Amino acid sequence: MIVRRRHFVLSALAGATAACSRAPEAATATAPAAAPDGATAGQPESTPAPPPKDGVVVVGGAELTVLIEGSNPSLPRSTYEAWVRRSAEMITAYYDGTFPVPSLEVKLVTTGRGSVGYGHHQQGRWVTIYCGRRTRESSLQSDWVMVHEMLHATFPDLPNQYNWMQEGLSTYLEKIVRARAGAYDEQQVWRGFAKSMHHGRPRAGDRGLDVTRTWGRLYWGGALFWMVADVELRKATDNRKSLRDALLHIASIGGNAREMWTTRRVCAEADAGTGTTVVSDLYKRMALAPGDVDLDRLWAELGVVRVGRSVEFDDTAPLAEIRRGICAS
Ligand SMILES: [Zn+2]
Repeated sequence: MIVRRRHFVLSALAGATAACSRAPEAATATAPAAAPDGATAGQPESTPAPPPKDGVVVVGGAELTVLIEGSNPSLPRSTYEAWVRRSAEMITAYYDGTFPVPSLEVKLVTTGRGSVGYGHHQQGRWVTIYCGRRTRESSLQSDWVMVHEMLHATFPDLPNQYNWMQEGLSTYLEKIVRARAGAYDEQQVWRGFAKSMHHGRPRAGDRGLDVTRTWGRLYWGGALFWMVADVELRKATDNRKSLRDALLHIASIGGNAREMWTTRRVCAEADAGTGTTVVSDLYKRMALAPGDVDLDRLWAELGVVRVGRSVEFDDTAPLAEIRRGICAS
């Protein structure tokens, strides 16, 4: 039975969203060259694809239907649609050109006084984001909520006890996905992690991510799990395999939020996609046991040096190449 559940994200989750210094890259997909008669060069003549319907954005093979609901949208529809497109394109680029679900209904609720607020996702089919009348185009350029919610659609649904795995993945990956697309820079990524990842560490009496239900463990404990998985996968494979290989494999066998999986299956397929046992081993350490992480040591190994409220990079650190690989396009 599919249990209908929602994944919420509060905009306060990661603290204030830093302003984006660069606009996201435009679409990278290019249309095939057309022959003079209109047929695609080198291809048999066929019926051209119908033009997208009004309110439908097509990205990575997926149809994203944009619904605007509310009395006072502060921006034209085209601007909201561009935001949806841009967010989906970043995820599509991470997933090798395919958006992991065939369609998504994105509802924007334009009520209230604020800017981009919270959102939620359901079953790999629906995303809702609340954006009030203070929403500006610049708010959408630097937004992370849309990417966070869309990423939920790309990963298998799990029983409620294991929400940390889903929330943690969206919390970790939205920064990586945006950095890889040029919408966020590497320094912002690591500054955010250095500032907030400690919320995910176990406290006294913790029994593991599968058991402990606190805000810190739900979002940042899960993010810590996936960040360590990413680093450990790269360490185990001389930086040739990463979390992305695990997720690409899971997506390739239909593992998205339209399917209910078990954590055992997630771990087994993550291992299969990387030819390692890294994710299963880490699950035993951090989900079935408290499994603390020495973050000061990890930052030092990655070459992330905290300087006041910001970070600098030490490229002579032993895992500096791994750190660079995480945000590389
Ligand atoms: Zn979420």
